[in-house]
Amino acid sequence: MKNLKEMLLNGAAELGVALDDIAVDKLLAYKVFLQEYNKKVNLTSIIEDEDIIVKHFLDSLTVLAEIEAKKPAKVIDIGTGAGFPGLVLKIAQENLDLTLVDSTGKKVRFLEELTERLELISVTCIHARAEELLRQRTEFQGNFDYAVSRAVARLSKLVEYCLPYVKPGGEFIAMKGRNYSEEVEEARKCIKKLGGEILEIKEVALPGDIMHSLIKIKKTRF
Ligand code: SAH
Repeated sequence: MKNLKEMLLNGAAELGVALDDIAVDKLLAYKVFLQEYNKKVNLTSIIEDEDIIVKHFLDSLTVLAEIEAKKPAKVIDIGTGAGFPGLVLKIAQENLDLTLVDSTGKKVRFLEELTERLELISVTCIHARAEELLRQRTEFQGNFDYAVSRAVARLSKLVEYCLPYVKPGGEFIAMKGRNYSEEVEEARKCIKKLGGEILEIKEVALPGDIMHSLIKIKKTRF
């Protein structure tokens, strides 16, 4: 366990994220619960200790540096699956008000059990398709400081799911791989139509020479 703890702490520090003891303990408990649960219910194919630390936890943490820490931001994670990146962000930064959305019921049940076990407050887990939720809960429109999403759809589709949730002045941060150019080009028109503007594309490095990217899209108007 010591090695994993170091791997997590050092990896986070490389990303400019300082994890306190409580966050580290909660992330390691998250890992164990995910591994146990995954034996009965298929939640993720990334399940080995080190892979969970790097490909789920550290990868999720790359988003944290982009989120304004001073105020208790409202964050929605669309297609969160087993909680990535949203729940990892919440564990690392307690003051977030987090909404997790996924269209697969068994994943949402896992998230509900996990958030209770980890005693996380201000986390809402919703079983819904992102595009339908927006119609059912109109109060969610333009209600979030940040929308985040990883591995759910191509960017042109993803902006349709995510940008409507973001308030003007807020941001949608899409987690993508190293080859993002084509997707970004394809999505440009949709982004504009939805009142968004590409702010910045950040390339991020994870241990093991894994290169990912963060596509930061600002909502400028409705
Ligand atoms: N973000 C997680 C899960 C990625 S898998 C991770 O990176 O590990 C994609 C997830 O998106 C699945 O759990 C699937 O149920 C969910 N999903 C796909 N389309 C969706 C939609 N339209 N609305 C909400 N969730 C969706």
